[in-house]
Parts: sequence; C-alpha cells; structure tokens
Amino acid sequence: MTHPISKTGAGWRFDNSYARLPNFFYTKIPLNPVQAPRLAVLNVRLAEALGLDEAALRSDSGIAAFAGNAAPDGAEPLAQAYAGHQFGHLTMLGDGRALLLGEQLSPDGWRYDVQLKGSGRTPYSRGGDGRAALGPMLREYIVSEAMHGLRIPTTRALAVVETGEPVFREDELPGAVLTRIAASHLRVGTFQYAAGAGGADQVRLLADYALQRHFPEVAEGDYRSLLGAVVRRQASLIARWQLAGFVHGVMNTDNMAISGETIDYGPCAFLDVYDPSTVFSSIDAHGRYAYENQPKIAGWNLARFAETLLPLLHDDEERAVGVAEEEIAAFPDLYAADWLSGMRAKLGLPGEAPADESLARDLLEAMAAYKADYTNTFAALTTGATRQTPLFGSDPFARWQDRWKDRVGGTDEAAAAARRRMRDSNPAAIARNHRVEEALEAAVSGDYAVMDRLVDALRNPFEYTPEQAEYAALPDASSGPYRTFCGT
Ligand code: AMP
Ligand code: MG
Repeated sequence: MTHPISKTGAGWRFDNSYARLPNFFYTKIPLNPVQAPRLAVLNVRLAEALGLDEAALRSDSGIAAFAGNAAPDGAEPLAQAYAGHQFGHLTMLGDGRALLLGEQLSPDGWRYDVQLKGSGRTPYSRGGDGRAALGPMLREYIVSEAMHGLRIPTTRALAVVETGEPVFREDELPGAVLTRIAASHLRVGTFQYAAGAGGADQVRLLADYALQRHFPEVAEGDYRSLLGAVVRRQASLIARWQLAGFVHGVMNTDNMAISGETIDYGPCAFLDVYDPSTVFSSIDAHGRYAYENQPKIAGWNLARFAETLLPLLHDDEERAVGVAEEEIAAFPDLYAADWLSGMRAKLGLPGEAPADESLARDLLEAMAAYKADYTNTFAALTTGATRQTPLFGSDPFARWQDRWKDRVGGTDEAAAAARRRMRDSNPAAIARNHRVEEALEAAVSGDYAVMDRLVDALRNPFEYTPEQAEYAALPDASSGPYRTFCGT
C-alpha cells in the first residue's frame, strides 16, 4: 500500500516492529485526509525528547503528518485489532478511530508508538465516524501532561490539530486529531483478541513481543514472569492513581496497557472532596469504576489477562490455572505495599512503623467525614498552612495531628523536616475539573492562552509557585457534582 509521503525533515525515525507481526494483529489502512488542518498545540518538550524538530513539526508538512494527511517517511499506518471487556462484557473492538504510524526511535534509545487518534474510519469502527472532537482531545492533552507532571506513568500527547471539519455528536463540534505517544498500545484487550480470535500460537507471538518490548529483563519464554511483571506494574500504577486522587472512569480491559502506563483519557477526573465512592462518568451508572473500586477492578482485569496466557503457563490446564492464580493473588499485597509507601511519603514519615497504615487511614476517614478536599488537605499539611476548614478545626484532626507529630519525631524541627520531605509527594495543583473545563471552553472558541497557562502550572506540581496556589482554589459550591461524558 502506498501513502503520500511527507519529507518533513522533522526527525522522524520510524521502525515498524508491530507491522512485522502477522496481519492477524492489525489492518494496514490508507490515510483519511482532513480538509484544513491547523496546529492547535504542540508539546515542545516531548518533541525534543523524541528527537523531533519543532520548526519542522510546525511547518505545513509537519502538520500534515499530525493530521493524517501525509505519512511521515518510514511510517506504515495500521489499525490495531483488540477486544475488551467493556463494563464487564467482552466485545471485539480495535482502533476504530486511531491509527499507528509506527514506532519512533528516540535519541534515548527507546521506541515509542506514534498514534493518531481521531484519524478516521477503520475496519474496526463499527458504527462510529472514526473522528474525535477538539474538546476531548485537548482534555487528553491537559490531563496526560498533568499525570506526567505527577510522575505517574502515562501515554503523552505530542500534538493536537484541528481538522477544519465538523464532527456530529449531540451537537456539531470542531474535529481534531491527537498524536499520542506511548511505550506501546498493547492492551489486556490485545491479548484477549489474540486468545479469542486466534489461539495459543497468536498469544505466544504477542507475549514474546511484549516481553521484548517492555520486559527485556525477563528471560525469553518465561510467560509466568511476564504475568508477574504486568501485575507489578499495574499495582504500582493504580497505587499512584489512588495517591493522586485520580479516577480513570473507564477501566475496561481495552483501556489497560501492558506497559503499565495510564491510557485512554475519556471520562477521567481528579477528586476534589475526598469521597471514596466518587464516580464522574455519566455512563457509569453503577459506580463500577468509582475511585474506591479501581484497585479491585485492576485485579479483575489482570485475571482476564492471566486467562489469555493459560496455554503458555503450563501444558496441564489445572496447573496453568494454579500458576495464574498465584500471580494474580499477589496483586492486592503489591498494591497495598505501594500505596502504603506512597502514603508514608505523603505524610513525611521516616522509615516504617506498624501503625503507619492506621495513621493514614484515620486521616482519610476524617477527610471523608468533614468533606475535605483531597489534594488541598495534603498540600496544607505540607506547607503547614492549615487554614480554618471544618476538618482542620475538628477534634479528630487535632488528635490526629498530635499522633503525626509524635510519629515524625515529636519536635517542631522534626515536623518541619517532615513537611519539607512532603513537598515532593503532595502536589500544589492538580488538573481541577472546573479549570480544565474553563481552559477547554476558551480553546474551543480560539483562545489557547488559558490552557497554556494551566498546562504550564501542572508541569511541575511540586514547586508550590504562586500560579499553582491560584489553581488550588475550589470550584464554586453551587456548580454541583462534576460529570464527565464518554461522547468523545
Ligand atoms: P474508548 O471508549 O475511547 O476506549 O473506545 C472504545 C472503542 O470504541 C474503541 O474500539 C474505539 O476505537 C471505538 N470508538 C470510540 N469512538 C469512536 C468513533 N467516533 N468512531 C469509531 N470508533 C470509535
Ligand atoms: Mg479505549
């Protein structure tokens, strides 16, 4: 298949290892050009890290690549096949509105998937138009940068282009294409597809590919260790989500990456008030993906992953199930350990003491009881600026603070030292929903300055700058509970 080639000189250095897998795993597709591409945002730092040239990316041919109007030299556009449990039901999916251009070989010696999202119809589009609206693509840009700033493994957004074409959702909206950079787009659902539509041979090919690409430390053919490594990365990832107050919103198995990166920013949002039952997504009627359920759901998804590997784990099916169960059973403890060590850091606790978990849990319980803001509570504990809020004025908090002070050493100096340590683990600012919405509204009407300022403030959320203090302000109480929508 031939594509219009764009000689951008932008520094694209593609390899296409996924395209060398059997075509069972994907469909090569032609590009679907858009009418009038215009660069909306470019992630200059990320471009540099990938060895790309900013000026060339901003040129017409650079933008044509981001729009899917011309493939950069060396790209082999394809749509990846995958399946997925969506709210518990297994469905055949695949890239219905995305295409993989190839893998960029970066100066740091790594390889990154370069994917266009919103790039038009593919054989996996089912009833969809294959397109994306500008607002949700910018939202992915903002929130994934915020996650990266929080040092949470995530796919990144390199660029968003406006297409100059409308997309039709409930309203007519401006269309856009996002360029997404990922360690890979291998999902639990990719393995489910291999197992369901193929068989042991396909799963083995995919597992070998995943091992080479993500777990070079694991011996060739050691599929048990592959499972264990994926379990560990997810335990670490989900712990980080919980510690940051992040709600993914749609943890279907097709939205869980084998690499351990956060992927697919749809109805996600950060907690304001600490309420473990928080659900933002309008379509999550039963709260399956509520904040407090995320670790359990991750474990469930990993069990689906393990099922796909069964034929590789042992020739005897019963023993294979035993191996899988052992690896999956490790998840809760791994998660709990990662969470607790993260909480120790958030509370500035030196070393480890047996009562640390109850110290953390008692704070969270008081936060829930007094409807305290999650991020701002930890930030205030960090700066010592515990202003009058119902939580900070309460007796349970006063008792808790005495326990905390004892635990960190008992003296004012020890408490101050603990607070200094805490700065590195408690963000001064997060991508608060109302500020994200404000930025998107301005951007969609042509003013990107609001979004630029927000993204800048979120780049290093541990700095405690005056701009970040401004973004710590809570939404107006009258705005009611925040809702996110999947209609992206
Ligand atoms: P998501 O909810 O974004 O994880 O998407 C779930 C599935 O629906 C994936 O297979 C997507 O490719 C597909 N999909 C989402 N939106 C569209 C669209 N507008 N056109 C075609 N496929 C879509
Ligand atoms: Mg998805």
